[in-house]
Order: sequence, then C-alpha cells, then structure tokens
Amino acid sequence: MSDPVNVYGTKTPVWDARADLVVIGSGVAGLTAALHAQELGLQVLVVTKAAVEDGNTRWAQGGVAVVMDGEHDDDDSVAKHAEDTLTAGAGLCDEDAVRLIIGGGPAAVARLRDRGARFDAADADSAELARTREGGHSAFRVIHAGGDATGAEVERTLVARTADRRVPVLERHIAVDALRTPLGEVVGVTVLDSSGVLGVVRAPAVLLASGGVGQLYQATSNPEIATGDGLALALRAGALAADVEFVQFHPTVLFTPGARGRCPLVTEAIRGEGATLIDATGAPVMRGVHPLGDLAPRDVVSAAITRRMTLAPGGVDDHVFLDATGIPGFAKRFPTVHAACVAVGVDPAGEPIPVTPAAHFACGGVVTSVDGRSSVRGLYAAGEVAKTGLHGANRLASNSLLEGLVVGQRVAEAVAADLAAGLLANPKFGVLPSVMTAPVAERDSLQRVMSRYGAIGRDTDGLAVISSVLDLSTLDTPLWTHEAVEDAALTLVAQALVTAAARRTESRGCHVRSDFPDRDDAAWSHSQLIRLSPSGHPVLTDPILVEDVA
Ligand SMILES: Cc1cc2nc3c(=O)[nH]c(=O)nc-3n(C[C@H](O)[C@H](O)[C@H](O)COP(=O)(O)OP(=O)(O)OC[C@H]3O[C@@H](n4cnc5c(N)ncnc54)[C@H](O)[C@@H]3O)c2cc1C
Repeated sequence: MSDPVNVYGTKTPVWDARADLVVIGSGVAGLTAALHAQELGLQVLVVTKAAVEDGNTRWAQGGVAVVMDGEHDDDDSVAKHAEDTLTAGAGLCDEDAVRLIIGGGPAAVARLRDRGARFDAADADSAELARTREGGHSAFRVIHAGGDATGAEVERTLVARTADRRVPVLERHIAVDALRTPLGEVVGVTVLDSSGVLGVVRAPAVLLASGGVGQLYQATSNPEIATGDGLALALRAGALAADVEFVQFHPTVLFTPGARGRCPLVTEAIRGEGATLIDATGAPVMRGVHPLGDLAPRDVVSAAITRRMTLAPGGVDDHVFLDATGIPGFAKRFPTVHAACVAVGVDPAGEPIPVTPAAHFACGGVVTSVDGRSSVRGLYAAGEVAKTGLHGANRLASNSLLEGLVVGQRVAEAVAADLAAGLLANPKFGVLPSVMTAPVAERDSLQRVMSRYGAIGRDTDGLAVISSVLDLSTLDTPLWTHEAVEDAALTLVAQALVTAAARRTESRGCHVRSDFPDRDDAAWSHSQLIRLSPSGHPVLTDPILVEDVA
C-alpha cells in the first residue's frame, strides 16, 4: 500500500489509534512502565521498532547493582552504593536523584522477582543470592542471572508478564515524531511500519524508553536498535537534553580484527573475579593507575587501555588482553563470554582474551525528574534515553538496569497522577508534524568520523572535523523508512554531542579531551543543557542546574 504524500514530504496516516499512555520501547524501562501503568488502570500501548525482546536490555551481562536487605557485605549499605555512584559520576550526578534511585533498588528487584525473575543463588542449598563486584564498586553487590546473562533473564521475565497481562505491543513500528498541540504539549506519536505505512497513536502521555546511542560509533557493545531515536524525537519536540557528551566506552569488548557494529562484551565481572588486563608484552595495564587497579571506574580503565594501545612499542596497537586463565570454571561462570571467545578461536581457560574499548552507554539524554517527567508536558523518558542525574559524567557499572526498574515504575505512577490531576492535554488537539524531512548524514561516514574524532581522546580540531563532515554530507531526507528515521536520529545526536563536547574544555568522567587533560571544577562542574534552535540545530543553553528545569 502506498500512502499519499504532500509537498512537505508528509504522508497521510493510514490509521489512527488511542491510548492513555504510549510507550516507545520494550526494554527494561519500557516494559516495567507499561506493566505498572496497566496495573494502575491505564490503557497502554507499547510500540517497538524491532521484535519485543530486541534492545540493549537482553544483552546486559554483569548484573544489577543493589544492596538487598540482610544480604550484603558486612560493611556495605545503600548509602555506600550511592557514594560509589557519586564518585563514578565525577561531580555531575544529582545527589537527590542518586539517593532516591539507588534507595529504590531493593524494592524494584523484589518486584521483578515477584514477576518471576530468577537470579543466581550463592550456592545450591542457599536462598541467598550470589553477588559479584564490578569496576567502581567498593563491595560485592552485583546480583546476576544465568552466570553472565542477567539482561536476558530481566527481558524474559518482563516480556512473559507483558504477554500474560495482554499489554498490547506493536512490534516493528518505529516512532518518528511527536504529535503536539498548538501550545507545544506532546499528545501522541507518528509511527511507520516496516513497509513505510504511516500511523498515528494519540495519547495524552508519551514515554520514551528507547535506549542508547552506541551505533554512533563503528565498534559498540550495543545492538542495531541503539540509534538515539528517542533523544532526537525529544529534541525535535522541544525538550531539553543534557550530558550528551558523556558516552561511556566499555573497557573490554572482544577484539577481532576489522570488526564492525555490535561486538561481544567481555563483562567487567571477570575482572571482579580476579582477571587482569595486560598488554602485548604481558605488562599489567592498570598497575599504578588507580587505587582500585583493574576494578577502577570504567572511564579510568578505558582511558588507560587507550593510552597503553597508543604507546605500544612499534606503533599503535588496536587491543590489549584480559588474562582470565586463573579463574576456575570460567565456562560455567561466564557462559556467554566463553561462547563468544570460542566462536573466534580463543580459549579463555588457556590464553588471554584479546579486548578493546567500545561505545557502551549514553550517560546523558533527555532531561527528566526521577519520575520521568521531561521539560515538555506530556513527554516522559526513562531508562538509557533519559538523564535523571543518576549517572553524571560516568555510569557506575550495573546501575542502568536498576535505573530502568526504579524509574520505569515511578514514571507509570507520574503519568497516572498527571492524568488524574487533569494536567495533560487532550489528544484531539494534536497536530501532525508539518514537515516530515530531516537532515541525514551517510551512516558509515558518520560512524567513521565519530570513532576517529569523537570517541576517547577528543580535541578541538577533531571535533571541528566531525562538524564539517556532518555539515557537508547531510541531505534533507524524507523520513519514510526505518533507516531514514534512524539515520536522522544519529545525525542529530552526533551534532548535539559534538556541540557539547567542543564547548566542554576539560576532561571529566568519560569525556576525555587530549587538549584539556585536566578536570576543571571551577569552570565545569555543571551539566550542559541542549535544545534545538528554531532552525533545527542543537544549541547549548546557559549552564543552570538541571533540577531547576526538570
Ligand atoms: C552488552 C551490554 C551489556 C550490558 N551490561 C549491563 C549490566 O550488566 N548491568 C546494567 O545495569 N546494564 C548493562 N548494560 C546497559 C543496559 O543493558 C541498558 O542501559 C538498559 O538495558 C537500557 O534499557 P532501556 O529500557 O532504556 O532500553 P533498551 O533495552 O535498549 O530498549 C530500547 C527499546 O526501544 C526500542 N526503540 C528504539 N527506538 C525506537 C523507535 N524510534 N521507535 C520504536 N521503538 C524504538 C527498541 O526497539 C527497544 O525495544 C549493558 C548494555 C550492553 C549493550
């Protein structure tokens, strides 16, 4: 079926549906919110551009960081978990958000277990859960499932409950743009099916739970869906974003020469259980770099590996090694990593694993409160797409599944409360976007230039190269296919990231500037807010504290 198109590149919708809440994304944040919203009596529709289980969530390995009641190291506490989160966040976390989200962890995990999630037990006869440790954590507090398949168990549980509860899920439909009232409130979204047929979902509340931005780079731990669509949609709908320059690079994905796209993760929990990073000569990478050694926060480890690769005798190396040969029963404890290694001919029990850093997690995103409310009425965000203030300049390992569980629950309550209080606009006043085109850069060039100049070790000249390439290579393109929608999102998010990274003339957390290697608290201990100018370019607004706007 082909639909009519007007001179602005706008198609006429073929169908029009209604809900109280439309949730974009079916990962941990989206499904947690959808399930709870339905429990609260709301009519919910989940829209996802892939199959229901596709997203970052199902790839999560290490676990969920949580200090459970009566099940923790002797000197551990929720307050210590919050302190570790603040330390990793390098001065940019919102302390209230950290204490609230981390404090909500035990109850959120208990709810997930009530929904059927099974975490690994400490031993066969014990009801107590096994706990491991990851980078930046001062205690063993990361619970896991299936050894290193935690995300798969979280996603399995939520998908099963969604099916049981008959929460409707529209698969393989991509959200394109928000429907807005003349006053700018969000009251729905336009969506495209895989053949380009346009539909409209009208709802007084739209929740973005659309995940991260890893596909900005050539090598990433993220699956194909991670193209920043939700962040782009929010910016186009007038919302504020912040901290987009902070993209966490995971220190260790499995290195294979010339690999592109999603690379298998080599979880940090392996270092938690004693593995060490070594270079090609066998010298330890982390010795003398940080008091926590191989378990230093991710930004520190990624930067140390990058430095070591650059200083390699004989030129730049493209990988280092993780020596896990001393871990007994590796294949049983880390079955996912073991299988990925074996598939490329590496036996972790007998030889070091070749590893390299890769784009992993978007610390920033759509500015929200801890209840998921954005700066635009009717638009909410939760999970990796949101910037609640939990992660600051660098996420603490295994805090993101936790954030999705906690904020997913809270945002459902916020939507229900806003609806009951009559705060949301009537979807009948929603207007279709008048223009359905956007600047699009060619994806391969964008990924190459972002990997070369916008990854770890940015500088003024390199960031300027990215801007020029994006300026010169973008074409206004109709958003009629999934690929065009994703490419437009990657283009806009890259522009926003480069704008923020160029202005931040310091190194902090996972934003590493080779021309400004030091942290500058006097000038830069604040988030940078970003919005779209009337001409559609990302612009930075004056630095003000995030809690003033969310
Ligand atoms: C390899 C790997 C290992 C990780 N390990 C851990 C770990 O051990 N612990 C931890 O806490 N975190 C971990 N993380 C991070 C964590 O998995 C993610 O941050 C988290 O799962 C994000 O959940 P989410 O609900 O925000 O988004 P996702 O799970 O990414 O889901 C996004 C959803 O949005 C949909 N979507 C996107 N755009 C659109 C659109 N335009 N229209 C419709 N649908 C759309 C997608 O199809 C998908 O359903 C890991 C991540 C990776 C990649």
